[in-house]
Amino acid sequence: MIKQYVCVLLLVFSPAACGFAQETPAQVTAIRAGKLIDVNASRVLANQVILIRDGKIESIGSDVAIPSGANTIDLSKMAVLPGLIDCHTHLADGNQEANIDPTYQLTRSASQVVLESVPNAKVFLEEGFTSVRDVGVYRALNDVALRDAINKGYIVGPRMFVAGAYITISGGAGAMTGFAPDLVLPWDLRYGEANSPWEVRQKVRQLAHDGADHIKVLSTGAVLTHGSNPKSIEFTPEELQAAVEEAKNFGLRVEAHAHAAEGIKNAIRAGVASVEHATLIDDEGIALAKQHGTYLDMDIYDEECIQEQGKNGGRPADFLEHDRDLGETHRRNFTKAVRAGVKLSFGTDAGVCPYDRSVRQFAFMVKYGMTPIQAIQSATSSAADLLGKSDSFGSLQPGKYADIIAVSGDPLSDIRLLEHVSFVMKEGKIYKQ
Ligand SMILES: [Zn+2]
Repeated sequence: MIKQYVCVLLLVFSPAACGFAQETPAQVTAIRAGKLIDVNASRVLANQVILIRDGKIESIGSDVAIPSGANTIDLSKMAVLPGLIDCHTHLADGNQEANIDPTYQLTRSASQVVLESVPNAKVFLEEGFTSVRDVGVYRALNDVALRDAINKGYIVGPRMFVAGAYITISGGAGAMTGFAPDLVLPWDLRYGEANSPWEVRQKVRQLAHDGADHIKVLSTGAVLTHGSNPKSIEFTPEELQAAVEEAKNFGLRVEAHAHAAEGIKNAIRAGVASVEHATLIDDEGIALAKQHGTYLDMDIYDEECIQEQGKNGGRPADFLEHDRDLGETHRRNFTKAVRAGVKLSFGTDAGVCPYDRSVRQFAFMVKYGMTPIQAIQSATSSAADLLGKSDSFGSLQPGKYADIIAVSGDPLSDIRLLEHVSFVMKEGKIYKQ
């Protein structure tokens, strides 16, 4: 009773004291952009003003008036672009250097691994990536934990869309292999194993329940898995179809890891949204990808790191044997895919290379056939399209998140400028300036 009385008195002078929210004007930020790369129209606009309110872009134009009291950021000597999106990352596998051999996962608890992943997320955001599609993690659901911690503001990182686990055959490309057959691994290291269409469906249902944003399946063997052969077929067409169908029931898209030509075609025919790596894709595969509108997510840079790590003795010998000769073929096939006009998204397999090196893939994409604007679109508008998020981010337009980066100079005449992003904003908040 006394409390209520005091509250009535206080209400007159201080509404917040009684639990009534006070109306505070939303903070407005204005960015003066010297150049603005309009990825949707493939053009560069000069001297634009971007108004940002509540984390979203409110308006853009050369004649937009800056409201008094707005926080103004001067990027008038810089080129401003949408935040970058990497569609093939592994941010939640822990310390990148230690993880060069996946058996590192057995030397740590799952919580240690995810805490060791915290710097990965920060570095990646500071490189200019405001969103990622994270496509698998050894300790199942560590990626869900990392995503949620970022979304809640506990730690800093890009907006993550996660797979939760790899769906793979037993002993397959996404499995933790190389151990004696009588060794029983903890549940999270064998979460995604499935060996029939119905087991695949069960895994998809479980992942949908456990918070996955999309589904990762392994269609062929892998380079960085003990006992695996990247040229072998793993899931059958029936299993891949089961994954796509079941994922669709939960509103989820599927990406398929595939190196071998047949495994790539099996995945495209099954209706996956993207094929990861697509290393040995043949002409029929390229035609099929074009016909089905399937994205190819070709990580043509990370070969540099695998061979480098090999020379330094960091990579297991069998991984280097798998990788031999694949690198150049991969890049040649990328050129073919560019020329054929297949949809291509930017994916780097981040985690194979240190997290601050994904940006170096842009120069490789241009070297192997893309124009600079195509390379930028692969990591912005096309990547957002692959994620089904074109209405939220991927270009600078009113109504979309204020995910904005800037570089000095013109990245359309020197793509390597993207290796030195000097301003990063995610949802209206500045992380690098
Ligand atoms: Zn990968």
